[in-house]
Amino acid sequence: MDGLKKHLVILGSTGSIGRQTLDIVRQFPERFELVGLCNGYNSDLFRQQVDEFKPKFVNTLGEFESGYGGAKLIPTEEIVSLPEVDLVVAGTVGCAGMSSTLAAIEHGKSIALANKEVIVMAGELLMQKAREHGATILPVDSEPSAIWQCLEGETSPPKRLVVTASGGAFRDYKWDDLHDVTPEQALKHPTWSMGKKITIDSATLMNKAFEVIESQWLFDIPFEQIDVTIHRQSIVHSMVEFEDGTLKAQLGPTNMGQPIQHALFFPERVANPSLPTIDAVAMGSLTFEEMDPSLYPCFSLAIEYGQMGGTYPAVLAGADEAAVQLFLDGQIKFTDIPNAVQKTLEMHEIVAEPSIDDTIAAANWATEITLSSNKSSIILG
Ligand code: MG
Repeated sequence: MDGLKKHLVILGSTGSIGRQTLDIVRQFPERFELVGLCNGYNSDLFRQQVDEFKPKFVNTLGEFESGYGGAKLIPTEEIVSLPEVDLVVAGTVGCAGMSSTLAAIEHGKSIALANKEVIVMAGELLMQKAREHGATILPVDSEPSAIWQCLEGETSPPKRLVVTASGGAFRDYKWDDLHDVTPEQALKHPTWSMGKKITIDSATLMNKAFEVIESQWLFDIPFEQIDVTIHRQSIVHSMVEFEDGTLKAQLGPTNMGQPIQHALFFPERVANPSLPTIDAVAMGSLTFEEMDPSLYPCFSLAIEYGQMGGTYPAVLAGADEAAVQLFLDGQIKFTDIPNAVQKTLEMHEIVAEPSIDDTIAAANWATEITLSSNKSSIILG
């Protein structure tokens, strides 16, 4: 760092997290310098970002001429490994973020991690590598960020984590009533505005199971000590219970700006007038309800296989990614998502102590199998 300036790389710069990160960077030019921007296919927005932020290095799956805007096109793994990089914001979605997140960890970087799938896939290995290489993982996902903030300054281990869930788009329905829901209906989240994949995962509560698995690794706490409770207002982002009976909660607006900013500026808290605030009187009542697992078959399935460990969590992440895509493409029904994921999990032969390559291979296998077996069932059906 030169002075207070952090040198950043953003992975997934045109996605929801990437754009919101750049909104913060734009407001604090004296605090951040963009070394690299990496994205998927959104070429027009990506060029605009390169024009505005002038990163030295870029990587994209879309069309891009090396040298455009003065930016050199090099592999993402090389960008995150550059010596001048202080912080890598992992805002990619799904399993594709693994190799670049791994490279950042192996080079001892700080990683603001929004891409929960990589921790779901290989949490044990990634946390072990982070310890070995002195890398720091700063959660950006709002629930793990809340838990992290509740634990800051504490020296005693937590007794229990309470992860809150809005309940998703269909929280007032029964599972059997959801056969014919459309992607448009499932994409209407009651409290959060997010990317498509995570919004569907929120409607099935797969996202919440991923957050339980993620929290297990990030905070080194067994599954049995992590609870999920339905909290419709999405104001309390999660809670931590301590041995003395104290329950600490982190509250904030339903906006990713705060958790992103907390990871970017950690350990500082900095005024940002463009972020929304909450007012205790205006928020009125906050409610907490028990989660009904019968409404959320994806949740129970994910926890069952998540607990078995090995390559199962990678298969879970890969199969879910494919199943959500099939639903969004109109190829399977909403209620087929857990069946499609379960079928793939049941076909998998677990590798009990996988390497990172084993987890990537398992996730890719799961994505392909889920896509192909569901396409063939459509042909047969
Ligand atoms: Mg979350």
